[in-house]
Amino acid sequence: MRVDYLIVGAGVTGATLAERLASAGKRVLVVERRDHIGGNAYDEPDERGVLVHRYGPHIFHTASKKVWDYLSRFTEWRPYYHRVRAVVEGKPIPLPFSLASLRALFSPRLADRLEEKLLARYGYGARVPILRLKEEEDPDLRFLADYVYRQVFEGYTLKQWGLRPEELSPSVTARVPVLVSYDERYFQDPYQAMPKEGYTALFRRMLRHPHIKVLLGADWKEVEGEVRFRRLIFTGPIDEFFGHAHGPLPYRSLRFRLEGHPVPWFQEVGTVNYPNEHPYTRVTEFKHLTGQGYLPHTTLAYEYPEAYEPGRNEPYYPVPREENEALYRRYLEEAKGLKGVYFAGRLGDYRYYNMDQAVARALKLFEEVVRGE
Ligand code: FAD
Ligand code: UDP
Repeated sequence: MRVDYLIVGAGVTGATLAERLASAGKRVLVVERRDHIGGNAYDEPDERGVLVHRYGPHIFHTASKKVWDYLSRFTEWRPYYHRVRAVVEGKPIPLPFSLASLRALFSPRLADRLEEKLLARYGYGARVPILRLKEEEDPDLRFLADYVYRQVFEGYTLKQWGLRPEELSPSVTARVPVLVSYDERYFQDPYQAMPKEGYTALFRRMLRHPHIKVLLGADWKEVEGEVRFRRLIFTGPIDEFFGHAHGPLPYRSLRFRLEGHPVPWFQEVGTVNYPNEHPYTRVTEFKHLTGQGYLPHTTLAYEYPEAYEPGRNEPYYPVPREENEALYRRYLEEAKGLKGVYFAGRLGDYRYYNMDQAVARALKLFEEVVRGE
């Protein structure tokens, strides 16, 4: 077999690149070692008919009109604003921590004072990373920072990463800033929605092109000698590609426990976080995401963080911290020395991308490779 592009991985990144390249007239083979497309965004109905995400709940949100318009060619959308509660001192409070969370936890007098100080310091609508709030000198803001740090971030981060917030890049906890507003949505991006028929249907449409062939259940190593290709795009782990020559890059994994209940609804919002109790970090009820309120039963996903062990579980998260970035750069240097081989995606770039960032990265790489031809 002979193709223009061999793409390893049929996730968000691989599907976007395959679609773009095929639409530009290239012949593409996508090789995927799992038995399905979609990567970690894969979804399928379970035995109760609930559309579940096998690799963790995925909510689409973006600030990029370009990404939104691009994906809208392959799906209709169901409007959905994700809402999250965190259980703090036994109470489910709105997350991200906001002015509404202050009111849920503190006396009206204390809440008024803290709100006034936050507004004076940052202004309404500000998004303040917890590690920045912790640097405040005002005693009230310090009290608030220490409280939120201890009750919301410390335990959760230790569970999720096995590390304290300061041991990770500040960008990790900045994903969930303190909100100086009453916005109770988990994300503030202008575009937020779920693909109407799910993610797998979306990716199936992207990959349905006469110039694209998809080979499932095959590691790229198995086809390397069989397929002739001009260029290779690799969306798997970059350290694996190079046989871990500089040592393994650290990843964090998760175990998902899916649980059915014979009731229409189990919890008030899409996700409930448990920073300080239980071995799991959060519980998501899929029906909130999928809009299947008409089903009599419901399905929940419990997320149990665990160490990544190759062959036993999946490398779900790169671990953003300086020493890992330095190791990644050594692989990147190697990559630059290879002609016609490109790396992209959450594992290929070793970046904590959301789906929209993975699409944006793929669209950018497409421009680069086409220019380079
Ligand atoms: P992947 O989805 O990892 O796809 C890579 C594919 O390559 C995989 O299918 C893998 O099997 C295949 N592969 C790897 N190596 C080989 C090989 N050697 N041979 C053949 N195939 C190979 N993003 C959001 O925007 N919103 C969310 O709510 C959200 N929630 C998330 C929750 C969890 C628990 C996780 C882990 C991620 C979440 N994400 C979310 C991020 C999202 O999953 C990623 O941005 C996206 O999946 C990245 O796509 P990708 O194609 O780069 O990688
Ligand atoms: N986080 C936390 N407590 C929470 C929610 C998030 O400490 O209740 C921190 C934690 O370090 C987490 C990070 O913020 O890994 C990013 O959270 P997000 O919900 O974006 O994680 P993801 O959905 O990517 O797993």
